[in-house]
Amino acid sequence: MTTKQAPNTLQKMGLDSPMALALHLPSRYEDETELCTIEEGVIQGRFQSVQTQGVVIRNQVLFRPRRQMLVTIEDDTATLQLRFLNFYPSQQKQMAVGTHIRVRGEIREGFQGSEMVHPTVRAVTPDAPLPTSLTPVYPASAGVSQAAIRKAVTQALRDPSLQDSLSEFLPQKLMTELLPSHDWPNLQSAITYLHQPPADADTQALLERTHRAWRRVQFEELLAQQISLKRAHAIRRERQAPRFKQQAESKSLEAGLLKALPFQLTTAQARVWDEIGNDLSQSFPMNRLLQGDVGSGKTVVAALAAARVMDHGYQAAVMAPTEILAEQHYLKMKEWFEPLGVQVAWLSGSLKAKEKRLAQEMIEGGGAQLIIGTHALIQENVSFAKLGLAVIDEQHRFGVRQRLEIQQRVGSELFYCHQLMMSATPIPRTLAMTYYADLDVSAIDELPPGRKPIATKVIKASRRDEVIGGLQSWLSKGLQAYWVCPLIEESEALQLQTAVESFEQLTQALPEFKVGLVHGRLKSEEKAAVMAAFKANQIQLLVATTVIEVGVDVPNAALMVIEHAERFGYAQIHQLRGRVGRGSADSVCILMYAEPLSLAAKERLQTLRETSDGFVIAERDLSLRGPGELLGAKQSGDAMLRFVDLQRDAWLIELAQQAAERLLANHPDIVERHLARWLGSRAEFLKA
Ligand code: ADP
Ligand code: MG
Repeated sequence: MTTKQAPNTLQKMGLDSPMALALHLPSRYEDETELCTIEEGVIQGRFQSVQTQGVVIRNQVLFRPRRQMLVTIEDDTATLQLRFLNFYPSQQKQMAVGTHIRVRGEIREGFQGSEMVHPTVRAVTPDAPLPTSLTPVYPASAGVSQAAIRKAVTQALRDPSLQDSLSEFLPQKLMTELLPSHDWPNLQSAITYLHQPPADADTQALLERTHRAWRRVQFEELLAQQISLKRAHAIRRERQAPRFKQQAESKSLEAGLLKALPFQLTTAQARVWDEIGNDLSQSFPMNRLLQGDVGSGKTVVAALAAARVMDHGYQAAVMAPTEILAEQHYLKMKEWFEPLGVQVAWLSGSLKAKEKRLAQEMIEGGGAQLIIGTHALIQENVSFAKLGLAVIDEQHRFGVRQRLEIQQRVGSELFYCHQLMMSATPIPRTLAMTYYADLDVSAIDELPPGRKPIATKVIKASRRDEVIGGLQSWLSKGLQAYWVCPLIEESEALQLQTAVESFEQLTQALPEFKVGLVHGRLKSEEKAAVMAAFKANQIQLLVATTVIEVGVDVPNAALMVIEHAERFGYAQIHQLRGRVGRGSADSVCILMYAEPLSLAAKERLQTLRETSDGFVIAERDLSLRGPGELLGAKQSGDAMLRFVDLQRDAWLIELAQQAAERLLANHPDIVERHLARWLGSRAEFLKA
């Protein structure tokens, strides 16, 4: 009956073809190539799994203290008890008295002598040969036995069609030129080896996936990725987008905005604006990431891009991941653009139905030139009259699908808008070379003048009273401060409760100051009112949940206390901390933590205290969380690289990149076959 179920469940796991099975590689191995006597096993089995065999001399089912089956086997040297806490009638039969079985597991000292708990059992003849290769253990989902997968894989490896799908594509010459010293097997041998490594294989290298058989597979996978990224790049260049060259006349919005700004662009801002401006004047869509640490001044660059587009009679849209951030952009853009006569529209999910309809009409009719909003821009039923530019702030907070989505809002399949993404989280080099290879990157690597470094302190929560004392003298100097309450993932209600408690405590402790509270449950007008009061210094201390994470800009607030800092991730604290250090006062960030502290949290806090370099922090973050989460790719549910680990295998990326270039230039036929083999339907995501 299990054999009938197996094909179904295997198919559910995506193992529906010989190729899929061949690429379902083991996560580890068991060594069943050796056999010891029961006597030897009792000694060795304390430390590791052992394999032994014998005849069943007793099989009994007990009901006390709980239902279990005890089986005793015997060979010439000793006896051994096997204990099963869960068992099926079929297993009772399999281990009937008189049968000869081979068992594998660790041995421990039980109540009644040496025993194996839940060993792997196989009925065999006493002289049944031992396997000559290690036994693979596969990733499996519930209801699929290892035996079923092994059988299916073994069959698949013998399937004649595999000869073709695993055949060697890569020209030998290319490989020896790129990697003269390589000793990699061809793909088919590598795959076979990984499924059935010989008894003397280097199991350490297999487990760590650094074995040359693994290298071969990883290289192929990266190669497919590099090829498709280069392809996507070429495809983008063939697409049509409106060209926005700089308008000569001094009445242009672009010139007007530059003139009206109360500051000069920094050199870095001027440089990236140049790069972006150049992209906008091309006939194919821009796909650029503007990277710059918190506070580096990305917004004004986005505004200049919007101005250029509007100068040509097109619309520009700015989308941000949270209502607060979107609103900050909205207020800023209104401040900059309304005096220049631009119609700025606002669209968020929290608008009343009537307001929403009005905004949508303005967007569709073209009355709105600049549109700022949240996900609502792609979720609601919006179509743009003439969208020329989409700016996506904090782009990694959006999924790949959502980034594709805004492209599709332009109205025509053949016509694309320019896209500018912005992020304060720098992309580590390995990611830039893989997932983001079709993205041009501009970096603002300089902060506006006059910024002060932020001193970060790490303090135990038990010193809370001291912290509040310090807060008091801080506020007495006429400065303002933030008090950030922790994220509680399990419960929004609990998160709110702690925020309210801290708010009440601080209100009581600091009676001479006005304390405000802002959190995600407030209506947007309420939130805006609190933020406005804080900006106007009518509120001196702002207690907040992580809703203030991005975009808030109050230069007089130069102190931030973060409660339960150990519960935050790297990027979050870095973002939060970026709220201070914007004025002329020395800035301080206090990370309060509660004990006990995990090793990871300890390291995190230490790193955050020692550096405010966004790149260092992003690298640490990457090694901790993996690229999927950092990119927002996790939301797409597709793990693009199955066998490659960007940290461990970084050196392979460059190699794959070179190989991809050569193949694209000289072997278009190989390129096609290679892509079909590796990517299939997943290629779509590379275009985002
Ligand atoms: P971020 O890159 O984090 O989005 P913002 O665009 O919000 O940063 O800019 C942070 C602050 O710096 C804003 O108050 C902005 O007006 C100001 N700013 C931006 N560019 C300059 C500049 N060149 N000189 C002085 N202040 C600037
Ligand atoms: Mg910003």
